[in-house]
Amino acid sequence: MDARRRIPATDRVLADPLLHGAADRLGHDVVRRAVHDAQQQARHGHLPPEQVAAAARAALPDTACGMRRVINASGVLLHTNLGRAPLSDAAIDAVRATAGTSDVELDLTTGRRGPRGRGTRDALIDAVPAAEDAHVVNNGAAALSLAATALAAGREIVLARGELVEIGDGFRIPDLLTATGARLREVGTTNRVHLADYQDALGPDTGFVLKVHPSNFRITGFTSHVTVAELRTLPAPVVADIGSGLLHPHPKLPAEPDAQRTLAAGADLVTASGDKLLGGPQAGLLLGTTDLITRLRRHPLARALRVDKLTLAALEATVRGPATPTARALARTPAELLDRARRIAAALRDRGIDADAHDSTATVGGGGAPGVELPSAAITLPARFATALRTAPTPVLGRVEQDRCLLDLLAVAPTDDHTLIDTTAAADRCT
Ligand SMILES: *Cc1c(COP(=O)(O)O)cnc(C)c1O
Repeated sequence: MDARRRIPATDRVLADPLLHGAADRLGHDVVRRAVHDAQQQARHGHLPPEQVAAAARAALPDTACGMRRVINASGVLLHTNLGRAPLSDAAIDAVRATAGTSDVELDLTTGRRGPRGRGTRDALIDAVPAAEDAHVVNNGAAALSLAATALAAGREIVLARGELVEIGDGFRIPDLLTATGARLREVGTTNRVHLADYQDALGPDTGFVLKVHPSNFRITGFTSHVTVAELRTLPAPVVADIGSGLLHPHPKLPAEPDAQRTLAAGADLVTASGDKLLGGPQAGLLLGTTDLITRLRRHPLARALRVDKLTLAALEATVRGPATPTARALARTPAELLDRARRIAAALRDRGIDADAHDSTATVGGGGAPGVELPSAAITLPARFATALRTAPTPVLGRVEQDRCLLDLLAVAPTDDHTLIDTTAAADRCT
């Protein structure tokens, strides 16, 4: 009873120097809730009354947003549940610089309205010389639905049966296409399609021929498909959904299509995501001929799919700027990763933790390079660490294999190695 009476009143805790400025930074409600939670703990005898302010301060989030940074040690380079590609520092700087008022749609020399997103468009066509023009929308699905609406609503999209892809979380490309009012004209079989199948399906109702990259599965065995170079011989526009957003071929991902080669091979329009292998923000890229891109840009739906200045800024900095974290992760060698894993494991063993270093196999994930195994290295820990690390103050997402928790380093920036050590050591004390 006595201790309870010593619990400081809310206003007194809020006035504590430890919480100085917190409400300005995070908002009153967030701080008040942290104080109430700490008072509650003290009431239940879990906290000495004089530590209420310190406990409230410790419980405050870093930002006014509930989402938190998570270290991706899952071995899946582009993890959809972790927001796919991490932005580069250059892209983060660009977002910061434009987050206030910016000249996103103003020509500063004339003082008049300027073309929205011009810099981003220029960056894309500089990076992909085979593209005459470019347009950016919200995501890959939006790019595809704008193309289908503007070029094929009320008409037919000719598409191979083996390319009727479900991307994930129940999202199916055929459903998206028909939702725009276009009809699907499926050709070939699950495993095989020939140019003649497309030829037979073309008619006055054809809007375009669509080629979809099977970005999350592989069909092997008795298969045949038709290349963009062959499709271009047909009397219809060719749209290629390449998915992952590689602008140029990547040596480690030889089967992954890229925008430059796909357009050079004769596609009239390429659609792709910004936050997969391109390593940028969530966005949908449309690259292609002046004629088609102009039609898309002028379609009323384009306004509904328009991206904000933050996306435009991050995307331009991604395309023009230095290698992205995703590109850097792909460039890491197994030897360098194993070396890091050994050092981290040794530091953890010094703290009495049962840690080891091991080779590992990472994947691209996030709808790119299915079946590609990326040789990597991991720290292995007792399985109980998986939950403890996931719920740590700086959460770390690993994976459990054969009763060990693996922290795969492929997608972890070397600058986070210290955080991995500290977080694992702290998790050991809590479990
Ligand atoms: C990922 C993907 C999409 C969807 O892109 P989002 O950016 O997730 O909307 C469409 N097509 C293919 C081939 C993809 O890989």
